[in-house]
Amino acid sequence: MGSMPTDYKSAPRSAEQFQAIYDSVHDAILVLDCEQGVLLDVNRRTTEMFGYPKDELIGMSLGALSLGLAPYTQEDALAWIRKAQEGEPFTLDWLARNHSGRLFWVEMNLLKAILGDTERILITARDISERKRFENEHSARLKRAESQNAVSLALAGAGPDYEAALDLIVRYLAVQVGDLCVMHLLDEDRKLRPVAMSQSYLDGDRFLPALTDMTSQPIDESPLSQLMNSREAMSLYDPSATEPMTQVPSEYHAYFRNYQVHSLLAIPMRFQEKVIGVIAMAKGGSSRPYSFEDQSMLQSLADRTALTITNGTLYRQNLRQAEELRKVNAELEMRVAERTSQLEEANEQLRLMATTDALTGLANRRHFDTVLDAELRRACRTGRELSLLLGDVDFFKHYNDCYGHIAGDTCLQTVGQVMRSTFRRASELPARYGGEEFAVILPGVAPEQALRAANKLRLAMEAKAIPHERSEAAPHVTLSIGVASLRPSPETRSSDLIAMADSALYTSKQTGRNRATPFQNC
Ligand code: GH3
Ligand code: MG
Ligand code: MG
Repeated sequence: MGSMPTDYKSAPRSAEQFQAIYDSVHDAILVLDCEQGVLLDVNRRTTEMFGYPKDELIGMSLGALSLGLAPYTQEDALAWIRKAQEGEPFTLDWLARNHSGRLFWVEMNLLKAILGDTERILITARDISERKRFENEHSARLKRAESQNAVSLALAGAGPDYEAALDLIVRYLAVQVGDLCVMHLLDEDRKLRPVAMSQSYLDGDRFLPALTDMTSQPIDESPLSQLMNSREAMSLYDPSATEPMTQVPSEYHAYFRNYQVHSLLAIPMRFQEKVIGVIAMAKGGSSRPYSFEDQSMLQSLADRTALTITNGTLYRQNLRQAEELRKVNAELEMRVAERTSQLEEANEQLRLMATTDALTGLANRRHFDTVLDAELRRACRTGRELSLLLGDVDFFKHYNDCYGHIAGDTCLQTVGQVMRSTFRRASELPARYGGEEFAVILPGVAPEQALRAANKLRLAMEAKAIPHERSEAAPHVTLSIGVASLRPSPETRSSDLIAMADSALYTSKQTGRNRATPFQNC
């Protein structure tokens, strides 16, 4: 390559011979003028390489035979031409475009030459697409490996909160596979909702709305609906960069126009038989279209992401359900507790009803019998004394006759109050024995002490001073009391103690009433 073969002995002598060599060289040779950078002459290889007839090529600018985007514009070409004019020949890689719009890499050698009397630029160009492809594929392979690693790490660390992993994934894909990456998830109402977005261009922001402002596309109205059914990736490469515009939502149009997007790739995110979302990618400018390797790497990644999302979602649902269950359970427990306390209250009421005398509020006869039996056994075990008082209202029949039965009831209630306030200790049990007869169980109380207690009750009753004009004992209601005490043996029956108290009560009645009498064995 480089300068023309003019100084060999076998060098052609005629213009025809020169032309033949010129045309048979494997490299393209282009002669340009220095000012405009337009083609003045080209060899046959140039016409093959660019796909234009020679007469069309003559007069074209170098920029028209390239990508047309920086750094491959006509201005860039002129800058290189100026550099060649000023100094040594040099070589550079140039992204060329042929007649049908295909981009390919050429290695260009620029050289200043005097042809005739005029300064020209001679360019020899060699198609290096193969070398470039290899280089590109090598770096793409590296990038794919890097992104796979990064994504693996992100997915491995993602639990129910997988959103951060999605952001990381689109970021890596935008940079490593290029250029714009938007991950969508399919909503319950069958809309594709963008959930993560990234692009490799810093100022790409200006051409796209924020992720949160992006609209969800109904899948059935989207070109991607096909992908939902086929579960296969969709890929589009259109270097004229007009077709993609009709395929994508309008909010992407500014971005697509600015970056001359030519390649689209949509990868289904598959989980079992379902497609749960789509990873959509776009790139443009001088970049290469997505390769098959890109596509298969993205597919495996999309499927793994779908698995992570599905797992995470299930995990979240489980957590929610567990939380709901916990709430229901707590509510149930509360209700059970409520019911239990209601039941306990009712039971307590029943217990009270079963053991209490309705008129006086004292222990009833049944409860009295139970407690007396128990205290008898206990006193038998401990060897301690057990005392019993039996009281009877004096001339109560007369009271009823004089004041009426209702007043009689009220009087019995007052006796109950006096009994309760006189015998407050937990061990003492005041009870209504029956009719106008009352009893007090006094465990561990000796005879003298029991007699004192009986008199205390009697005086307390007198102190109430309930008028009783028909009583022959006093002008007010009085009690006669019998007091009995014993240290029970295993043979002792409660009826024994009651009989003793009853006998003593009888003595009280016989000896004038309104008194307490201890039992005496006669
Ligand atoms: P004594 O001094 O000998 O005990 O004379 P008493 O009139 O009190 O004797 P008795 O046992 O014959 O009379 C008891 C009366 O008590 C008969 C009954 O009408 C009355 N009585 C019994 N239970 C009740 C009750 O629950 N309410 C009312 N108002 N009177 C009752
Ligand atoms: Mg009586
Ligand atoms: Mg009586």
